[in-house]
Parts: sequence; structure tokens; C-alpha cells
Amino acid sequence: MGSIQDRLTKLLGRDRVLHSPDALLAWECDGFTVHRGRPLAVVLPDSTAEVQAVLQLLHAAEVPFVPRGAGTCLSGGPTAAGDAVVVDCSRMRRVLEVSTVDLYAIVEPGVVNLDLTTAVHEHGLHYAPDPSSQSVCTIGGNLAENSGGPHCFKYGMTTDHVLGALVVLPDGSLARLGDTAGPRAPHGLDLAGVFTGSEGTFGIATEITVRLSRDPEAIRTLLASFSTMADACRTVSDIVAAGLVPAALEILDRATIRAVEASVYRAGYPEDAAAVLLVELDGPELVVAEETEEIAAITQRHDALRLEEASDPKERKRLWKGRKGAFGAMGRLNTDLYVLDGVVPRTRLEDALNGIEAIAQRYEVVLTNVFHAGDGNLHPNISFDGRDPEQVKRVVAAGKEILELCVELGGSITGEHGVGTEKIDHVPMMFRESDLEVMARVRGVFDPTGRCNPGKAIPERNACAEPAKWPQMVARVLDETEETFGPDGGRAP
Ligand SMILES: Cc1cc2nc3c(=O)[nH]c(=O)nc-3n(C[C@H](O)[C@H](O)[C@H](O)COP(=O)(O)OP(=O)(O)OC[C@H]3O[C@@H](n4cnc5c(N)ncnc54)[C@H](O)[C@@H]3O)c2cc1C
Repeated sequence: MGSIQDRLTKLLGRDRVLHSPDALLAWECDGFTVHRGRPLAVVLPDSTAEVQAVLQLLHAAEVPFVPRGAGTCLSGGPTAAGDAVVVDCSRMRRVLEVSTVDLYAIVEPGVVNLDLTTAVHEHGLHYAPDPSSQSVCTIGGNLAENSGGPHCFKYGMTTDHVLGALVVLPDGSLARLGDTAGPRAPHGLDLAGVFTGSEGTFGIATEITVRLSRDPEAIRTLLASFSTMADACRTVSDIVAAGLVPAALEILDRATIRAVEASVYRAGYPEDAAAVLLVELDGPELVVAEETEEIAAITQRHDALRLEEASDPKERKRLWKGRKGAFGAMGRLNTDLYVLDGVVPRTRLEDALNGIEAIAQRYEVVLTNVFHAGDGNLHPNISFDGRDPEQVKRVVAAGKEILELCVELGGSITGEHGVGTEKIDHVPMMFRESDLEVMARVRGVFDPTGRCNPGKAIPERNACAEPAKWPQMVARVLDETEETFGPDGGRAP
């Protein structure tokens, strides 16, 4: 029979099955570096048929697997424990079909989000959901996470743009969910909608049909700066209360502005401001012009220090560069970054930010804020040194309290980054036992043996099953790091 690695190698060839410890390093974690795990192997299939063959083999051998795109997830979704094989879809990056009439595209899961927009740009079209990681993350990952992004305030999340998917189920069989006519007709239940946001626990999508949107006639981008965060938050509430629906409403706090301005993502943001608010308006030229005036008046009412407008596409790109590069800029503050993802009602933004600051002070952690203010979707970012177990403990505890606060304020523990392994223990903060039971049953329809991305998204319901191993795993990784490299992880600057 041979080992599972040998059998996979026989199937895909030596170049597309990785299993040496060095080769596996790059797949040890995603953007949530607290949880790490070295998989049994990584396979790099090229087609639906190859994904099917891999999953059939793993199913027969009763080996769990983890789907993966670009690994930019921030909740541990594509991170594998030692007994699982990672099925990396990043080589499957063809745009298979574009309809400029019916406005859809069929793509392979490894197509990078921004590459899809680039591919249809000449037709005056774009793909609307735009995570800040859009130059790297894949449509497969976006589908699994139901990803959002700055423009999702107006245009909706990934689920609003997915029409269908071809899915390889965990036993290697194929299922077609939805189609180009939309997820509801003629297939009855919206199964593409059910699959969207399932965090890689239902199977592997190998073809995804997404809606394309027409480029707006006009776009105007504004940057308002404020001397207090409260003024920035109240401006957002008033903009929405006035019935305006900008394409994006993004806030960055002082510490983020400074990190951005000191980095390669420098955007010319005013460093004396306590907060900047990036507003983008799009639509018919006349409407956008009127709305720009209304927004200027609202920012004035809240004592904006300055209001700047991008005068051409180059300037617009500059204003967005700082926002889209903000997480990257945090790399200047420490070796690791924990990007949290809580949601609160817009009117509670100020309370949430005050509470978060108090938590950060109590746990003595360095915290910055950059967030999708229009959606009330906060991203408190904690910069820390992952080589220091004591710091890691404080960071994880502070993160938990922040999410508790979001729930207390009427919000939720995730807006767009998913539960993954990061928040698996926090799910009961929001759901009752009976809710979890329903979710587990739905999952069981797609993955009856529970071997598709185990330990993610939905807490284990079966009392006989293995509990989630992540907390122990963090400890094990920290122990191993110490054993191998000494207490500083061998990476002291
Ligand atoms: C700098 C930065 C900025 C970010 N900004 C945003 C943002 O604005 N909005 C936002 O929502 N997120 C954001 N993210 C998070 C992340 O980019 C998204 O969750 C993204 O969708 C993950 O895509 P990926 O290709 O990297 O997927 P991965 O990280 O590889 O995987 C994510 C999940 O999808 C599953 N998966 C991957 N491919 C498939 C497939 N073909 N079939 C089934 N399951 C699959 C995996 O098992 C995993 O659970 C950001 C991340 C970073 C690092």
C-alpha cells in the first residue's frame, strides 16, 4: 500500500506533493500566527479531476484534509493539525468563462480576487467584494469565509455575489450548487448560499460562478481627519442616518496612521489627527456630486480638521494605499499581529472603542484600530512578539474580552474573518446548544465523517469525538519552539 504521502505522490507526481518538514513550513499557519500545525503533507492539484482523485484516496484511507487558497485567513481556517493533508488550490487559477451580457464569471478557486477585476476591466466591469488582501487572497478563500471588504457596506458580502459552485465533496463525489442563472432557480434551496461561509468544512469548491458588476459612472474619494475618534464615529452615524449609502466608510486611528506613514504604504495621512475617515462615493455623476456636498457638511458639523478629495485616479490610489496596506504596516510594530474581527451596531462604535482601549491597557498590549466603520465591523489589532509565551497568553485573553464586549454591545464575534480555530471556543457566546446542533447537522449533510477541515467553525457536537485540539496545540508549538531554538525561538533581533 505504501504511506499516504507515497500514494499521493504516485497520483500527482513528486513536485506537487510536499512532505519534508522544511517544505511544510510555509503551510504551518495562516495570518493568525497563534495557532500553528504542520500538516501530514501538502498537495497541489491542477484540476477538478485531480481534487476528486485526492479526496477519494484520502476518504478511503480515512485521512482528514484541509482546503487552502492563499493562506491569508486571519482565524486559522486553513491551518492543519498533524494528521491532516492540506489541499492547496492556488495552482487552479484560470478564469474559465466571462459573460459580459449576463454579467457573470466562472473561475477556478485559486484565482486571486484582484486578478478577476483586472481580467474584466476592459469591459467596464469589476468583481465587487474587495477584501483589503485582494491582491493576494483567492476567490475560493473568499467563498469559504464569506469575505467582506471596504466596498461591502454598499455592495454586500461575497454571498451576495456568488451564483453557484462546483464542489468536490469529502468522499470525492461532485455536487453542483446553484448555476449562472442564480442560486435559487432552478435548484430549489439556496445551497450555494449555505456553502458560502462554511469555512472549508463542507468540501472543496473547484469552480465558482460569481456576479460581475458594472463600473460606476463616477467615483469620488474623500479623506476627513478629526482631532477625536468620537467625532469620526459620530460622522459615520450621521452619514448613514442622513440616508446616504457611500461605497465605503473606513476609519484608521492615530497609531495606525503613524504606522502607515512610517511604512512603504505611506499615503500622506495627517499625523496630527486622532482619526481619519476614508469615504468613497460612487454612482451617477450628479448624485455623487450632491452627496459629496452633504458629506462635507456633516464632517464640518463634527469639527473635521481637514477634508481632502482625490483629484484623479492616482490620488485615489494613494488614499486607498494607506488603508489597504495598514495591516502590512503593523509589521513595523512587532513580529506578530493579531487582527480581531468583532461587530457592533454603528451607534455603539464609540462605546466599543473606549471599552477596547481599557482592555488593552489592562492587559498591557499594544493595540491599533482600523475598521469598516459603515458596517460597525471593528478590527482591533494587537501587535505582539509570538516568541514570548507570556505575551501570547495576554494577547489571547485580551482578544477574548474584546469579543465578549462586542457581544454585550449587541454585536457579534466575527464580521468577515470567520471563526476558524481562533474563535471556536467563543462560539457559545453567541449561539445556544440547539443552534449549534442545527449547524452540525447541516455540516453532516456535506461531510458525514467530519474529516473535512475538522475542528473549525462549528464546535464539535459529538461527545465521543475528539475535542478541538488548538489550545493544546499552541502549547505544543511553543514547547517545540523552545526545545528546538531556545526560549527566544532563535529569532532574537
Ligand atoms: C492584510 C489582510 C487584509 C485582509 N482584509 C480582509 C478584508 O478586508 N475583508 C475580509 O473579509 N477578509 C480580509 N482578510 C482575511 C482573508 O484575506 C480572507 O478571509 C480571504 O477570503 C482568505 O482567502 P485565502 O485565499 O487566503 O484563503 P485561505 O486563507 O487559504 O483559506 C480560508 C478558508 O477558506 C477555505 N478554503 C480555501 N479555498 C477553498 C476552496 N476552494 N473550497 C473550500 N474551502 C476553501 C480554507 O479551508 C479556510 O477555511 C485580510 C487578510 C489579510 C492578511
